Amino acid sequence: KFFTNSMNEAAQRRIRLENHLRHALANQELSVYYQPFIHLASGVVVGAEALMRWNSPELGMVRPDHFIPVAEESGLINPLGEWITTQACHAAMTWREITGYELWVAVNMSPRQFRDHGLVDTIGNALSDSGLPGHCLELEITERLLMEDVPGASEMIQELTRLELRLSIDDFGTGYSSLSYLKRFPFSVLKIDKSFITDIPHDPEAVSLVRTIIAMAHGLHLRVIAEGVETLQQLEFLYQEGCDYAQGYWFSPPLAGDRFQWYLTEQMFH
Ligand code: C2E
Ligand code: CA
Ligand code: CA
Ligand code: CA
Repeated sequence: KFFTNSMNEAAQRRIRLENHLRHALANQELSVYYQPFIHLASGVVVGAEALMRWNSPELGMVRPDHFIPVAEESGLINPLGEWITTQACHAAMTWREITGYELWVAVNMSPRQFRDHGLVDTIGNALSDSGLPGHCLELEITERLLMEDVPGASEMIQELTRLELRLSIDDFGTGYSSLSYLKRFPFSVLKIDKSFITDIPHDPEAVSLVRTIIAMAHGLHLRVIAEGVETLQQLEFLYQEGCDYAQGYWFSPPLAGDRFQWYLTEQMFH
């Protein structure tokens, strides 16, 4: 009986969340935060990851870990994904105007979005409407897409690379990854999951893993981003190991659009 009740509660919470989420976009409750990528050899900001935020008048701030799965199951991730891609492309054009540099922006893609046959057009339109060159847009894909075997996904990925955008493999090492995926799909960037970064440099096994992932990625001509960098020790280790880029609270948390623009001008001109 208890089990049934708590199942119902969880299910009801989910339905409530979904109902609110359905109106979130139209009610302008969603926003995009940006977290910088730092080029380790030069210390320069080279781009940012776009991360969705939801401030609901009824539910308060809802974490992406809670609402993204609901958006995926309900299919709402398709309009939400289109929205954030468009926002992100426009933002990257603004950064370029402010700084004079070609900064790139990375957008997270759910497997569910690859079930939408209009995806390639949607992304093509986000690029052409904003004027952002394809090579300034990066799509972060997780091993889930490769595992779930979404029909037609490989073809879509090929079509997307014709837009000259870049693909990165996100959360590398956390899924049931098969290394053959790395050869089969045209990735240009590999993101080491923060669960590995957390334990460096004090845990010798984490050290070996991170070192090996970086060497393997470079052997495959992929650039490497370490996510979740929180300490100077982690940063120093990654720099010594030749990791290309880092992202994490050590540099900056994700920032609202206007705050990120401030951050950029501070970093670039002071
Ligand atoms: P993710 O793609 O792995 O994004 C990185 C997460 O790590 C973000 O959480 C970010 O705020 C957090 N993070 C960044 N630096 C640090 C750090 O130094 N330490 C720690 N502990 N955490 C750090 P966030 O923004 O809560 O997003 C959670 C997840 O939700 C994302 O994980 C991504 O899977 C998903 N997500 C967020 N926005 C979108 C979106 O627009 N579309 C899709 N499909 N998924 C999204
Ligand atoms: Ca990501
Ligand atoms: Ca990640
Ligand atoms: Ca993650």
